[in-house]
Amino acid sequence: MTEPSPPTAANRIIPVADWRRPGPQAAETHPLIPAQGLLQDRLQRPLRDLRISVTDRCNFRCGYCMPKEVFDKNYPYLPHASLLSFEEITRVAAQFLAHGVRKIRLTGGEPLLRKNLEHLIEMLAALRTPEGLPPELTLTTNGSLLARKARALRDAGLQRVTVSLDGLDDAVFRRMNDVDFPVADVLAGIEAARDAGLGARGGLKVNMVVKRGTNEHEILPMARHFRGRGVTLRFIEYMDVGATNGWRMDEVLPSAQVIERLQTEFALVPLEAAAPGETAQRWGYAGPSGQWDPSLGEVGVISSVTQAFCHDCNRARLSTEGQVYLCLFAGQGHDLRSLLRGGASDAELASAIAHIWQGRSDRYSELRASLPAEAAEPSPGRRRVEMSYIGG
Ligand code: SAM
Ligand code: SF4
Ligand code: SF4
Repeated sequence: MTEPSPPTAANRIIPVADWRRPGPQAAETHPLIPAQGLLQDRLQRPLRDLRISVTDRCNFRCGYCMPKEVFDKNYPYLPHASLLSFEEITRVAAQFLAHGVRKIRLTGGEPLLRKNLEHLIEMLAALRTPEGLPPELTLTTNGSLLARKARALRDAGLQRVTVSLDGLDDAVFRRMNDVDFPVADVLAGIEAARDAGLGARGGLKVNMVVKRGTNEHEILPMARHFRGRGVTLRFIEYMDVGATNGWRMDEVLPSAQVIERLQTEFALVPLEAAAPGETAQRWGYAGPSGQWDPSLGEVGVISSVTQAFCHDCNRARLSTEGQVYLCLFAGQGHDLRSLLRGGASDAELASAIAHIWQGRSDRYSELRASLPAEAAEPSPGRRRVEMSYIGG
């Protein structure tokens, strides 16, 4: 039997089977590798960052992520029993921390749709690294439910939040989320996050995916709006992630051009990376002296397409149903859920994670840079996991 082609927004094919989950690779546990916080992959990259997708569902239908034509009412979302429980997620996260992870990001789908998410946050906040420190806990959200939930999330132990927002113009934003969601409600969510204390120490970020010809004219208005307001704005290049968004290279606006546009209005100075493996290139707004004025804040660009940053990529992703993905562009995950549900000990779980990470050689964006543009464009039959399934 031939496999169904991944549907794309462009070819408008509706999926007839669940092609999102190519058979997982069973995780090896033996020989037992203990957690010593020193794991390295095959390219000598450490493991520092864990992204956990808590749901594959979303109340938005951003065309670059979950196009309506594909993610419609017939789409085979995961049944509840397939999802990792909060206890299972916490158990896995504890082993990742033992291996050197310092930062945990909750994502999705839309993570705030997962019921009682604050309980999971409480459980994760109670974990400790081998040095006795709590993990840095953050969350990426579309902001639609943030006004209601920010306080409870903060009280549960969330430290930071990143809100995705693709423009300030209401018509543009409604078109991009494709469910007619008003921009004012997301802005209210951002304010609520700040009021709840999630903006302390630069913790509040706004991510804007820039699509050439769709929202590029929102770059300057967004920068004007967030400059000096304690929010770090980051512009993300539209990526060829997944197989449904009909990505085309000519819709990518290179980050270098984003910076050029910002410089037509603002004086910017380059800043050092805040941490190894950081995805954003940072720029500070200069004051009258020409030096960075921290009260004006900073902007960043994430150039996943035009300037690959695989060489220090230290991120692992845990899918909603417990598969570890080693790259946003991976075609296959490594199954931890069957270990969790099959009675594996913590030592075996830790060992499985070690085997998975030590076998990693993924560096898709670097390789894409050496491909001709057409070869990088998604083609029918290419297997790639969706971002809503493993999280951004
Ligand atoms: N629903 C939440 C949100 O939108 O923030 C969390 C999940 S979403 C998959 C995580 C991030 O991925 C968002 O900032 C979103 O803009 C980004 N994203 C999704 N598809 C993308 C694409 N094709 N290119 C670049 N960024 C993308
Ligand atoms: Fe939903 Fe986030 Fe994807 Fe938009 S980017 S469809 S909000 S998961
Ligand atoms: Fe990391 Fe893969 Fe992105 Fe490279 S392409 S930075 S390896 S997630």
